[in-house]
Amino acid sequence: MKLLIQFLAAILIALVPAAAQDLRMGSAEVDITPPPGMAMGGYFQIRLNTGTLDPLYAKAMVLQDGPVEVALVFCDLLNLPRGYVDDARRIIQSTTHIPPENVMVSATHSHTGPEMNHVFLDRLQGAPAQIAREYRTALPEKIAEAVKEAEAHLQPVEVWAGAGEERSLPFNRRYLMKDGTIGWNPGKLNPNIVRPAGPVDPQIPIVYFTTPTDSPVATFVNYAMHADTTGGTQYSADYPGALARALEVVKGPQMLTLFAIGAAGDINHLDVKTSDRQQGPKESARIAAILAADVIKTYPKLIKVEGPLHIRHEVIQLPIQQVTPEEVEKSRALVDRAVEKGPQGIPFLELVGAVKNLLLTDFHGQPIEAEVDVVSLGRDVAWVSLPGELFAELGMDIKNASPFRYTIVDELTNDSIHYVPDLKAFAEGNYEPTNSFCAPGGGEKLVAAATHLLIEAYMGSSR
Ligand SMILES: [Zn+2]
Repeated sequence: MKLLIQFLAAILIALVPAAAQDLRMGSAEVDITPPPGMAMGGYFQIRLNTGTLDPLYAKAMVLQDGPVEVALVFCDLLNLPRGYVDDARRIIQSTTHIPPENVMVSATHSHTGPEMNHVFLDRLQGAPAQIAREYRTALPEKIAEAVKEAEAHLQPVEVWAGAGEERSLPFNRRYLMKDGTIGWNPGKLNPNIVRPAGPVDPQIPIVYFTTPTDSPVATFVNYAMHADTTGGTQYSADYPGALARALEVVKGPQMLTLFAIGAAGDINHLDVKTSDRQQGPKESARIAAILAADVIKTYPKLIKVEGPLHIRHEVIQLPIQQVTPEEVEKSRALVDRAVEKGPQGIPFLELVGAVKNLLLTDFHGQPIEAEVDVVSLGRDVAWVSLPGELFAELGMDIKNASPFRYTIVDELTNDSIHYVPDLKAFAEGNYEPTNSFCAPGGGEKLVAAATHLLIEAYMGSSR
């Protein structure tokens, strides 16, 4: 009899498919607010910090399904050059069970965080230079700490996914002008605007994690719009930080909200049809309140999703823009002048191009090694991680080509290669193509790589 029961139990175990409870998740946040007085990033000039509106965080979520373990980390930073990611991965390799290539580190693109661009950091002097050096060492350690803590909190979870939509917030900031040129942020109520030159992506992909007894653990939110709504000289996580605080009120302080910026290279929040200034903490709060309402309205519509958890990587070579030694010398002189005397009197695109030229020298003319990663759960959810600021058009191409029910584009991950415009925008010119490392066609190559990985992940997604 006992043998028969054991035999039947063995058959039952074999018949029951590997269930959702195999999936475990842990999340954690670590404060990465720099000390007061650090140079802040985002606007092509050195602006020193004068205080903190709200803290900056590295927020980690670790997913584990049997032997597969991955970490996704979202930092309230403008961007994350590759060196920071390499250092964080090295520490994570020695402090967790997660292989370094299974760690994705993203920036939310907050414009009220520390300067990350070495062209400006290298030119700091005195106390700000010292603060920047110390922050450079401390940041990878803090990112690794967030992952270690998240791994320590691994617990069985149920996963729910869906997507809200918000069309009132994002605007394509490139406009066809009456003279046939493409304007970039052409100004409020500009009478020469004909129409936007590109689309917006209004989708809000959401992944919600609960305990098996339905207690909120974490909400992941993705939205394609620049986190440049606060401005000023105080540290702030911009609207993603305010969104996290709004959802915490509804779901409780034990729930962590993690935010990844979608393909928002050409998307911001500025409505040129109004004269409202649209900058400051009140504007961030307005945007966050609308997004929070969208997320809250979407919770009841989420569907339950299950593993298996998969990860796929590919490193592709992107053609790089070439710069001559003479251009580099001219650029160096221009940037030195802008840092010493301020950017006044220097045409903005000239300064942007000069900073870009100096950053390009890091590559010695060689192609960009761009890492594309796909993390997927069953056939329902896929996170696509890519470096750089992708145009919305490219992000939507990836989503349209993806066989997954919900596809999340997580830009500015694992490296900073600045803007990634589509071929059309390269032909049109203006700010983003000027502030881009890759040659025309690089964006389409990233889309092709992401599509290929997504299809492979989908086909290989059965247990
Ligand atoms: Zn940007």
